[in-house]
Amino acid sequence: MIDHTHDPAACAWVASANEAQADFPIQNLPYGLFRRAGHNESWRVGVAIGDQILDLRLAASAGRWETPVEVSLQDLANGDLNAFMARPRAAQRALRHALFAALVEGSPQQKALSACLVAQSAVEMAVPCRIGDYTDFYTGIHHAVAVGKLFRPDNPLLPNYKWVPIGYHGRASSIGVSGQQVRRPWGQLKSPDADAPVFAPCKRLDYELELALFVGAGNALGEPVAMAQAEAHMFGMCLLNDWSARDLQAWEYQPLGPFLAKSFASTISPWIVTLDALAPFRCAFERPEGDPQPLPYLDSAQNRSHGAMDIELEVWLQTAAMREQGQAAVRVSRSNFRHAYWTLAQMLSHHASNGCNLQPGDLMGTGTLSGPNADEAGSLLELSAGSKQALKLPNGETRIFLQDGDTVTLRAAAERAGARRIGFGDCAATVVAAAVGQA
Ligand code: CA
Repeated sequence: MIDHTHDPAACAWVASANEAQADFPIQNLPYGLFRRAGHNESWRVGVAIGDQILDLRLAASAGRWETPVEVSLQDLANGDLNAFMARPRAAQRALRHALFAALVEGSPQQKALSACLVAQSAVEMAVPCRIGDYTDFYTGIHHAVAVGKLFRPDNPLLPNYKWVPIGYHGRASSIGVSGQQVRRPWGQLKSPDADAPVFAPCKRLDYELELALFVGAGNALGEPVAMAQAEAHMFGMCLLNDWSARDLQAWEYQPLGPFLAKSFASTISPWIVTLDALAPFRCAFERPEGDPQPLPYLDSAQNRSHGAMDIELEVWLQTAAMREQGQAAVRVSRSNFRHAYWTLAQMLSHHASNGCNLQPGDLMGTGTLSGPNADEAGSLLELSAGSKQALKLPNGETRIFLQDGDTVTLRAAAERAGARRIGFGDCAATVVAAAVGQA
């Protein structure tokens, strides 16, 4: 699946796309939903290129496109990313090739399409498509072990973990886009020595570092998706911060799993990086020696050879005090998606294995992607060793959980020798104080 659009030497006629650390070089071409800030225009689909956006509503009429590509472009010009996500992977790839040809240095389309660019600094972004359903998995085994130890010291990993891709049904309506403010939720809190819970603002607010998969073509109810077909149903990826109220969670999570501890907000990065853009960063899916191999319905030759992905992940934190003093955010951890215990194909195929129908635009979170080392933790719960050891920040502040005014920024990029770096853009949000007088 590697072709000329992955050539690391290819450059765009948009100069900012050619900078070495650019998130959106011509090899990336992610889709997002935007409008010009301060204008009352309809939301429209665009493609990020360097620090610009190619407005596909304008480009559909200003550019010259071949007929098969025009069909896809028409959906996108109408602002309907879901319709494009539903199209076959071959059609999606054909548009990637057409956009690459239009934006590459020396393209005869440069003159016509220059007028279709908008600076990213001049727009506001929205959740990129209709997310009908959101499921969050639990594929980060180092997170599962670390958190399991806090709740069940003698039995951190439940016996089903190495057989079943564990997940829960999340809440799609409260998914927001990077740049949002997240209000501290209220809920039932019960300290271990108290007789009864109280209803109060969450005191143990946390983030979770995750990636997420957008489903492409759906499957009919009752018709599972075999592993060999899973890739045909995958559209692209974004970053996901699965905000978590740990005190609500501890009190409510048994017996049915997370509910109000998670459903008050989830933040995603605005750009959908396609599976095609990530093709050079696939790697082998391997199980540690002694661990069970996946059951046959979760196994395929392609998954074994290319199922996993090498994507570097980072978490950055800026407190209100740091912002007031003009201090930049600090990186508090880094990790990598290749540590995940299950692949995207296994998540998707398992999800549909009971006949559950997936729809274009559905979102599947990976779960918290902590690495094997303590400083690779993807949540404050882990970074603070279960609240026993506060995280120290360079300005002398400490954190066990998030405080009002804290801005959490997730970042991700795929990098390797012989390929152009593919970035995801920021997934940032700021915690604001709980509503008053809810009790
Ligand atoms: Ca999660």
